[in-house]
Amino acid sequence: MKYCPNCNAEVDDNFEICWNCNYDFENNEIVKFEDNTVAKKDIRCLRCDVQMSYSGNYDFHEGTDFGFFGNFFELFTNRESFDIYVCNKCGKVEFFIPESKIN
Ligand SMILES: [Zn+2]
Ligand SMILES: [Zn+2]
Repeated sequence: MKYCPNCNAEVDDNFEICWNCNYDFENNEIVKFEDNTVAKKDIRCLRCDVQMSYSGNYDFHEGTDFGFFGNFFELFTNRESFDIYVCNKCGKVEFFIPESKIN
């Protein structure tokens, strides 16, 4: 057992984040989860150096008409699902293949 330096809760040694206040023992800071945002990965905007927010998983179904995105999505043949991250500062959008789909 160890004690959270932020809220004094007892935290099992196996956990790196306090169950009570989200204090991160490795980085010595409180992890903030934004409303309606699940931080799946720590992805930073290369331009703004702010954390990009997870904005959902996008599913493409067979036969979907990609319109003018067609050429772009051809790069991802065999992939039908992407995690999308958005920079709230400059509006940059990044696509990531979910880890479960990476072979
Ligand atoms: Zn705590
Ligand atoms: Zn940005």
